[in-house]
Amino acid sequence: MEYLNVSTASATGNPRNKTALKPGRSLMDWIKLTNSSTNLSGNGNRLRDISLDELAQHKNKNDAWLAIRGMVYNVSSYFEFHPGGEEELMRGVGIDATDLFDQVHKWVNYESMLKKCLVGRLRTDSMLPPVKRPQSKLAVGKDLSMPPPFPSLSASSAGMVTTDWMQNLTTVTIVLYTRQKGLDARRISTSIDGNVFHTRIYSDDWLRCFDYQIRLAEDVHPFCKPTVSLTTGKVELVLHKKQIALHWQKLGDLEEVIQGFQPLGQAPPFFRRSVLTRKSRVNHNVFLCTLTFPTGQNFHVPVGWHVQLKLCLEDGTEVIRSYTPITSTLSSCETTDCPSISESPTALHFLIKIYANGPFTSALDRLSEGSRSIEVSNPIGNFVGSQLEGKNLVAIAAGTGITPLIRVAIDVLRNNRRVSLLFFNRTQDDIIWKEEFRELELKYPNKFKLWHVLSEPDDEWPGLRGRISKSVLATIILSEEYHDVGSNFACVCGPSDFTLETLRLLDSAGYTQETVHAFSG
Ligand code: NAD
Repeated sequence: MEYLNVSTASATGNPRNKTALKPGRSLMDWIKLTNSSTNLSGNGNRLRDISLDELAQHKNKNDAWLAIRGMVYNVSSYFEFHPGGEEELMRGVGIDATDLFDQVHKWVNYESMLKKCLVGRLRTDSMLPPVKRPQSKLAVGKDLSMPPPFPSLSASSAGMVTTDWMQNLTTVTIVLYTRQKGLDARRISTSIDGNVFHTRIYSDDWLRCFDYQIRLAEDVHPFCKPTVSLTTGKVELVLHKKQIALHWQKLGDLEEVIQGFQPLGQAPPFFRRSVLTRKSRVNHNVFLCTLTFPTGQNFHVPVGWHVQLKLCLEDGTEVIRSYTPITSTLSSCETTDCPSISESPTALHFLIKIYANGPFTSALDRLSEGSRSIEVSNPIGNFVGSQLEGKNLVAIAAGTGITPLIRVAIDVLRNNRRVSLLFFNRTQDDIIWKEEFRELELKYPNKFKLWHVLSEPDDEWPGLRGRISKSVLATIILSEEYHDVGSNFACVCGPSDFTLETLRLLDSAGYTQETVHAFSG
């Protein structure tokens, strides 16, 4: 996905009204300041929960806090660096500025720009995000940067997590008492990078998570296999000492820990290093990219979920885009014995379209195999695979919107159910994996059906033409085979106008929130 990027834009306010910054106050100067030892947050590195009332008290230029997406930042040092001017920034001070921020530049990587200014989290009981609805009753529910509208989580319902550690001659074991019954190892991601050990534990519904990060006191091997008790939710993370028999005086210094599980949308992103080990052309502007992880990484990307890729541009700006991992080929994953990327991945594969004006993809275009410039976040998403149980899949995709649907479709085929794919593209040359999809059709003549629809076909094109419309959708939805809406589940992904129109049409064909999932663009 390529989003609007205003890399030098303001944290709130209109980027078109940029003001001249004083010498020494450029973006690069700000990055230098954030990389220095200056304490910009003023909170001594301890994150706190902050109420709206407390936030409102910090509304002066010398003591200015603002909240974006559930995180509170002390922006007192940022005024002179703000391209939109001091007055614009003041508009967001003392309040939850998420809406103001989103009005102009939702995709600015503020997390990175303001990370040293982080004071804490806006308390969930004082914040219910606005619910955005498209015109149809079906929602493009997946603005994952927004915290989901959870009711307030009391300590008991959120699940307090207590921690402990122990050691023997060769190992150190970190114990987390999560009290999450039914927790399985796939919900536990770990990372060992030098001395920094990070773990994220997802709740049983994957919608909340618990983060724990510690700078270990001594060296360990980059390997950790979590074990978990299904009945109590006790998680044991065994680390292997590099220096056998060394008695550790302490475990290390905590860098990130909160008392319990928090909504996924409010958790700060965690990024892992990777190596670009494959970059091969799929068509005139799409690459298949493989990112391989160093040892010490253990995580699972659920079907229908995505990750964020972070790339540092030549001028030091970090750009982040979301991409859904795919299987490396369609054929490698059609059978039940396929190596699943659900196992702790050593690599993830992505189909990435290069946009000439896109800062992320044009930078990616310049990268060669072997590059270590891309970092990969923990998985993000809210697609619930169990919704599809026992159902056939109606997949409606446009352009690179096919990517999140690939693993979903394979999952359905592997479970012996039918997949019907309506795939919209501009021209024949734009169709991603045309041959591979054709082979899949031949392999599953009764289970997999594909219709290509071109909006800019040449005269010879024998297939369907146009954009999404009632008559095109009728090819699948209104045919006899699909008459029983209840036995189908529809997944939609593409440009936002395309998605909204498709949802509207599905709505009028009898689909409901329970039988449709739209991946937002
Ligand atoms: P594109 O611009 O090449 O268009 C492909 C087809 O989409 C067109 O042929 C047309 O049929 C349809 N289309 C385009 N604009 C439309 C409009 N305004 N109204 C109705 N139909 C329209 O597509 P692309 O450049 O490959 O872009 C794919 C989109 O999918 C991007 O917006 C991207 O953000 C989104 N995407 C989302 C995810 C996700 O997980 N949420 C993943 C991948 C891609």
